[in-house]
Amino acid sequence: MPTAAEDLPAGEGRWPDPLAWLGVAAAERAAAGLHRTLRPRPSGQCDELDLASNDYLGLARDERVLAGAAAALAGWGAGATGSRLVTGTTELHAELEQALAGLTGAPAALVFSSGYLANLGAVTALAGPDCLIVSDAGNHASLIDACRLSRSPVVVVSHGDRDAAARALAQRREPRAMVVLEAVNSTDGDLLPLADWHALAVRFAALLVVDDAHGLGVRGAGRGAVAEAGIAAEPNVITTLTLSKALGSQGGAVVGSQAVIDQLIDRARSFIFDTGLNPAAAGAALAAVRIIAAEPALAASALVRAGELAAICGVPATDSAVVPVIIGQALPAFERSVALRERGVRVGCFRPPSVPPGTARLRLSARADLSDADLRRFCQTWQSVSPS
Ligand code: PMP
Repeated sequence: MPTAAEDLPAGEGRWPDPLAWLGVAAAERAAAGLHRTLRPRPSGQCDELDLASNDYLGLARDERVLAGAAAALAGWGAGATGSRLVTGTTELHAELEQALAGLTGAPAALVFSSGYLANLGAVTALAGPDCLIVSDAGNHASLIDACRLSRSPVVVVSHGDRDAAARALAQRREPRAMVVLEAVNSTDGDLLPLADWHALAVRFAALLVVDDAHGLGVRGAGRGAVAEAGIAAEPNVITTLTLSKALGSQGGAVVGSQAVIDQLIDRARSFIFDTGLNPAAAGAALAAVRIIAAEPALAASALVRAGELAAICGVPATDSAVVPVIIGQALPAFERSVALRERGVRVGCFRPPSVPPGTARLRLSARADLSDADLRRFCQTWQSVSPS
């Protein structure tokens, strides 16, 4: 006969305080240089030189983008008021989806409330136990979590290793397969040869899911790396996007065939059970998409500035606005970022688990709106904190 919970003997003294381990874990992280702190930014223009944000085109404060957000706020209110399937789809969401599909050259688009949730939705709704996922080792946490949540068998291949991917696809027992990768790696800044990956996916009848978070706005004259590779309208290609980087807003999207979008609307849990994207964010993103479509030179400016930042730091230029400066151990990387910040320059500091152990780095990001004076200021500051 089952015993009622209140009849069970209390375990006083038998088990440790359930939070006691937190202090130990925090001390270990601090000793390894892995402690993180939040540093609230002041509002408005501040004197700090931002080389850390993902606002690659400088659109987060563009007046047209702000006006798009303000008009949406006035038209639809402060919140989406419900999930996309109930009240959370406004005419603005529909317009944004059309504009995103148009910009990236895909047949259709579906907006999510973040890029993270777009990745979860795309992979979980399209994979499953009968679908082998081949996942690039450099993939963003959201793609890794998506693979785990999908309950698919997963083979992780070294970053960019097409031979290993081909072997896994050829030897699979599952009838279906999906290859998951980032077009531009978020911490290395390198661009994968997407046309070759697409050919591989076609050869093995696999879907190709490409996260173009860091390619959109920067590659392909702003239309993204998938468009640049000429594969955006291919039926087996699904592209995931964030609206929070080059678009200067917030939110995410999946672009692909109408059949894929229909499946996501019915089956992507991170779409169905989440409140729709905030109208202000949708309005801002829509304005940004229009700016990017009309001003392809913005993307080129971001890439030129990235090359200049890399030259100042003495590291090779990448294929994107992301400039990594590998330091190695976490503590010296952190200390260098603090020294820069104390001198008014904010850079990203990426440490494990965001990057593999031993590859802690400063991550600088270029913006199209960096001025020559900004570059000179960075050069002086960089030299003052670099060991001679
Ligand atoms: N994918 C990649 C490659 C990213 O870098 C990020 C953001 N860091 C995301 C997805 C998640 O996008 P969001 O911030 O819109 O959730």
